[in-house]
Amino acid sequence: MGSESIILKTSSEIESLRKSNLVVAEILQKLKAEVAPGITTMDLEKRCEEELKKVSGARPAFKGYRGFPACLCTSVNEEVVHGMPSDKKTLNSGDILSVDFGVELDGFYGDSAFTIKVGDITAETEKLVAVTEESLNKAIDAARVGNRLHDISHAVQGYVEAEGFSVVRAFVGHGIGRELHEAPQVPNFGKPGTGVRLKEGMVLAIEPMISVGTWDIKVLKDGWTAVTSDGKMSAHFEHSVAITKDGPYVLSRL
Ligand code: MG
Ligand code: MG
Repeated sequence: MGSESIILKTSSEIESLRKSNLVVAEILQKLKAEVAPGITTMDLEKRCEEELKKVSGARPAFKGYRGFPACLCTSVNEEVVHGMPSDKKTLNSGDILSVDFGVELDGFYGDSAFTIKVGDITAETEKLVAVTEESLNKAIDAARVGNRLHDISHAVQGYVEAEGFSVVRAFVGHGIGRELHEAPQVPNFGKPGTGVRLKEGMVLAIEPMISVGTWDIKVLKDGWTAVTSDGKMSAHFEHSVAITKDGPYVLSRL
């Protein structure tokens, strides 16, 4: 997509996006505290629904999106993204869980995700989660006026591959605003110094999806759940970030 299709936001629109992203961040923080061996991913979905009801005017962004059935995406272990909450999916010690959540509030979208360990996990999985989160921090730091879009992408890829992990190709980040998914696409791989020039007022949902083994994925028969094709672990972190003249403004951080 060309830069002409990227919608730049005013500072008042960015403050509206901050409000919707804060709803996301606050609910995600509550869900994080619930994660423990023995709970199901549907328990988290129900808690999310309860919390969302308390926020006047907020609507779940994913429920009904192309027929997706839930407020949350809950993806366990080899599930990369788009896992569906289920009362049959019980979390066990040694698992990792990725939770992705979005809302629409007063016409503006928020979108963020984290991965968290359940009980005790292996050292390799621990490293995967840490590297994925740090790759997002590095990407956010590249989200600056004058840089190019793929400087963000390369910040993820360069770091992750040096740490021995792989970058999922099938899914990418996106612009966010009055639509959940706007231009541009924000890949987590690419050549530095390429892509559109980053400008004040761009708002990007940056979301590295990182795997221990292959970056290849397949989608399960449910039509949604994406899993690594080698069955190895995958992690996912996401923040919605405004590019401002003062640097990156992480809208979905508490
Ligand atoms: Mg998301
Ligand atoms: Mg997103």
